[in-house]
Amino acid sequence: MKLSELARKNVLQMKPYSSARDEFTESHQDFIFQDANENPFNSGYNRYPDPHASKVKIALAKLKGVPAENMILGNGSDEVLDLLFRAFCEPKQDEVISIPPTYGMYKVLAEVNEIKLNEVPLTKDFQIETEAILAAITSRTKLIFLCSPNNPSGNVMNTKAIKFILKNFKGLVVLDEAYIDFATQASFVSELNHFPNLVVLQTFSKAFAHAGIRLGMGFAQTEIIQLLNKIKPPYNVNQLTQAKAMEVIASAETYKNQVEMLISERELLRNALKKISFVEKLFPSEANFLLMKVDNAILRYHQLIEKGIVVRNRTNELHCENCLRISIGTPKENIKLVQALLNLNAQK
Ligand SMILES: *Cc1c(COP(=O)(O)O)cnc(C)c1O
Repeated sequence: MKLSELARKNVLQMKPYSSARDEFTESHQDFIFQDANENPFNSGYNRYPDPHASKVKIALAKLKGVPAENMILGNGSDEVLDLLFRAFCEPKQDEVISIPPTYGMYKVLAEVNEIKLNEVPLTKDFQIETEAILAAITSRTKLIFLCSPNNPSGNVMNTKAIKFILKNFKGLVVLDEAYIDFATQASFVSELNHFPNLVVLQTFSKAFAHAGIRLGMGFAQTEIIQLLNKIKPPYNVNQLTQAKAMEVIASAETYKNQVEMLISERELLRNALKKISFVEKLFPSEANFLLMKVDNAILRYHQLIEKGIVVRNRTNELHCENCLRISIGTPKENIKLVQALLNLNAQK
């Protein structure tokens, strides 16, 4: 894989913006900082944050077993996705591939960036059709988005199929692992050295219980990371987020325990849902949600709203006719959901 052929010319050629905190960092503790037009009176937040979030990356490197130089942090993984589009896809010329039904942001970002999106449907049991993907690749295809465990289906993609695409595509394979902590399958971050065209995305929004701080991670070979760093907004991960991330990483054990509980709640919920007569199918899940097919998704969705419970109606997604997606709640919340469904079940 040649990055010089893959990346946009203007991005390869441009010089990155050099911020004041790039040139002199907080580590120059005894210095007087009169370089960034900050308010000098200490509020705890009067200085710009570390543009590279170095402390967070060092802590994450230990946790994830990936060197800091193979990591980019973003304002959510959505920002890392947008950086990938802007670094690699020439508007009105280049193309990307996604595998519906899947996460909606790939399509939104393709539209915003004026990139043609070629959609190659998953099979009815939500697996990758490798040959169909190969057939959809053109000379302008820069990125292929895979999501495992997939949202909204919840299943993991076949590992061999992912590797087959990595081997047979010259562009980047972006593997979205937002839910990987809930899966039995290992993360592909351990494969980064084997596949120079692999980009793995993870997030603080799901297993790490911090959707509110907006912190996403991208893992890839150094050249890709350097290119993305070049175009990212200099202070994209703010000081509050960096500080909170350090606390979250230090408490990783707590979140591991929560993940264990959510997995066992998911299976308890699955068993309870089997007893509801209007639940027609429960799909396998290795994420913190369940996709279920009901008799009438719109009806059941609104009936649940009336009982004060919001689930996601996915009926308009491919292969998801009459499907609702349910995020696993606390044990109490799940009991209330099951009770509400049992009451509806008794009504008819
Ligand atoms: C929730 C989710 C994300 C998380 O995005 P953030 O911007 O990090 O909150 C990414 N990908 C998928 C598939 C998701 O479901």
